[in-house]
Amino acid sequence: MSYEATWMTDELRMLADEINRFYRAEMFPHEDRWRAQGHVDRAFWNKAGDAGILCASIPEEYGGAGGDFRHECVILTEQHRGKGASGSSGFGNSVHSQICAHYFLDYGTEEQKKRWLPGMASGELVCAIAMTEPGTGSDLQSIKTTATLDGNEYVINGSKTFISNGQLADLVIVVCKTDPSQGGKGISLVVVETENQKGFARGRNLDKIGLKSQDTSELFFDNVRVGPENLLGGAEGQGFKQLMTALPRERLIIAVGGIAAMETALAVTIDYTANRQVFGKSLLEMQNTRFKLAEAKTIAHVARVFVDNCIDRFMAGTLDASTASMAKWWVTQMQCDVVDECLQLHGGYGYMSDYPIAQLYADARVQKIYGGSNEIMKELIARSLVAT
Ligand SMILES: Cc1cc2nc3c(=O)[nH]c(=O)nc-3n(C[C@H](O)[C@H](O)[C@H](O)COP(=O)(O)OP(=O)(O)OC[C@H]3O[C@@H](n4cnc5c(N)ncnc54)[C@H](O)[C@@H]3O)c2cc1C
Repeated sequence: MSYEATWMTDELRMLADEINRFYRAEMFPHEDRWRAQGHVDRAFWNKAGDAGILCASIPEEYGGAGGDFRHECVILTEQHRGKGASGSSGFGNSVHSQICAHYFLDYGTEEQKKRWLPGMASGELVCAIAMTEPGTGSDLQSIKTTATLDGNEYVINGSKTFISNGQLADLVIVVCKTDPSQGGKGISLVVVETENQKGFARGRNLDKIGLKSQDTSELFFDNVRVGPENLLGGAEGQGFKQLMTALPRERLIIAVGGIAAMETALAVTIDYTANRQVFGKSLLEMQNTRFKLAEAKTIAHVARVFVDNCIDRFMAGTLDASTASMAKWWVTQMQCDVVDECLQLHGGYGYMSDYPIAQLYADARVQKIYGGSNEIMKELIARSLVAT
């Protein structure tokens, strides 16, 4: 019998089928055009909202679908499982629904939840989170962007870079220093509504080696003024704690996407090698191919079982930051290794951009960098060594 996650249910299986049908109709056929234009169509966000894909784990009272983390895992997995294609890596729903929406749900005031979550669930509002700056990424406490109180308004100054959904975002959660004399304790999350916002500017849609259909942006804040009601949670100095508390969820999501991409790489490679003839046989009949794919299948399976265990623990509220970091670094490293081996089995075709394996290869690389680099993950795990 084939393996299935302990957390899988009939309802989630039905959801997977439904999402798969939606993506086949509305997403995968457009992926090449989206890659060329550097972002998904803005209207796709509204269609995804209508289909109930956005904010799946946000309670219905705030416009969400009332599901939980497992629903998000199913939705993300289907995004990466375009059969015979590399899926679509461009739709920044993980950042929007699984990261940003949970900042509002978990830390927002009641007024903030009611103000922003329904629009995010319908697709009327696309959300981004802006932590990274040109001068600092991993060392988040050293950010320079400030939000200074002037009368009854915060005035935001600074610049951010590499921001996913940045070109399309209607809402940006900006990580700012409200007290620059403090390190982490001076950090706050301030929400900027971008429409007609004086002093807010989007820079380039950055040209990346992969994730071609995802907009990744520079953002500039030049005396951007927002009311105190835009301070997430209503109290200053909570930002670093809020960011750190959300990390296990964010890291696990990256691992979930990594497994789906690994499995897709395996599927397209089995298909390719079965059809490619070399020396009078199919490439799949060659022992090296069989051994490489056997290794890849083993790795993908071990990764899935580990991540399923992490999902069970997340659902039970017992997933610690160190274990989530293990999932993030190890799965993304395995994703890059497996995809590289699969590309090798494609020969020269693997190096051609229109082949799914080439796209999977280019998309995989960033998984080891964002969401906390893999070196930072190991640093965090190492801190737990003494306690064990
Ligand atoms: C496609 C893409 C999308 C992104 N989306 C977002 C987003 O939506 N929002 C956002 O805020 N950011 C986003 N980022 C930024 C991303 O999170 C950062 O690039 C990442 O955190 C690393 O920061 P950095 O680029 O400044 O590298 P640096 O922090 O300068 O690190 C450079 C190298 O040094 C290593 N290093 C750093 N510190 C240590 C240490 N203490 N010990 C050992 N090694 C160390 C790092 O691991 C890395 O290998 C995105 C990036 C990309 C490429």
